[in-house]
Amino acid sequence: MQDFKYQANPARVVFGKGSIRKVPEELLRLGLTKPLILCTPQQTLQAEDLREILDGEVTVAGVFANATMHTPVEVTDSALKVAKESGCDSVVSIGGGSTIGLGKALSFRTGLYHLCIPTTYAGSEVTPILGETQGGRKTTQSDPKIFPGTVVYDVDLTMTLPAGLSATSGVNAIAHAVEALYARNGNPVINLLAVDGIKALAEALPQIIQDPSAAGPRARAQYGAWLCGTCLGSVGMSLHHKLCHTLGGSFNLPHAETHTVVLPHVVAYNAPKIPEALALLAQALPESDGDAIRGHNVLLQKLGIKRDLKSFGLKEEDISQAADIAVSNPYWNPREVERDPIKELIRRAWAGEEAR
Ligand code: NAD
Repeated sequence: MQDFKYQANPARVVFGKGSIRKVPEELLRLGLTKPLILCTPQQTLQAEDLREILDGEVTVAGVFANATMHTPVEVTDSALKVAKESGCDSVVSIGGGSTIGLGKALSFRTGLYHLCIPTTYAGSEVTPILGETQGGRKTTQSDPKIFPGTVVYDVDLTMTLPAGLSATSGVNAIAHAVEALYARNGNPVINLLAVDGIKALAEALPQIIQDPSAAGPRARAQYGAWLCGTCLGSVGMSLHHKLCHTLGGSFNLPHAETHTVVLPHVVAYNAPKIPEALALLAQALPESDGDAIRGHNVLLQKLGIKRDLKSFGLKEEDISQAADIAVSNPYWNPREVERDPIKELIRRAWAGEEAR
């Protein structure tokens, strides 16, 4: 058995259908009585439902409904102003990674307590990572103070997540766990979470595509997303996250879709160096027949997701530049990150060829 270090992360997790009704008691147990609610303009109805649940139990300081993709600093500044003027003693973010990002940005700057109610599978609620954009440039920082304090997972809030977005958001979560399985600072506890998280999502996502109104698979996907997010928040990520960061940041490709297309290609690239991770992955993916790459291909086929980056706006002439950026300043990776094979990886993902 290899030596390892393991650090448990501090979040309190409340999981269950209807658990949004427990938000007042979760705040009151900490002596918090004046939360500011955060959401995107698309999720104001859910935020207003939350306000109704809180009203009477605590004093809602207000609803800031302008959370925006990639957490622009200007939006954080206007939310800070609202927070200050309202005299709130906590922030409650209800939404996906973008809204939770705003909650983290506010909490990190002010020390305000942050309770999250995630409505996608992105996993940001259990990580110490904050990505922000200023003048079109995205920067990422990691600090234990960024961890939200409480996470409330209520399947009811995910029922409106469109089937296609559920699929890509879910594969985005799987990608966190896949890279955790071969992380340099990986450990057996995180491997357990990764395998169970991938298994839960890989089983639930095709069921959600077949019947988006089925609460059972939605709850199982949410459970998987929690475990996979915990992997992201605990160990280092490698080539896959670097590539998706590059493609999203430099070529403006959509976040979850890019993760979905690129993942099997990165697993295939790293395959010669990660036999143990591949065995665990094959165990977690249904219909893999012992072959993790086959398991990925089967899953993506069942989800009916577009498999080519050209559909999302990457041009053929961008491939070389993307490869240059990806190999400059690379994250640690189990296989050496070499330009020509990386360029071929991106070309295959661009063309929509099957990973092998
Ligand atoms: P998102 O938060 O950007 O949401 C996308 C859209 O879907 C928004 O309009 C949102 O209002 C809507 N939406 C969310 N949940 C919904 C629901 N249940 N029903 C209907 N509509 C819903 O999407 P995301 O994929 O959750 O987050 C992506 C962002 O999060 C990216 O900026 C990414 O970088 C970041 N992220 C950060 C971390 C981290 O650890 N810091 C982890 C994962 C993702």
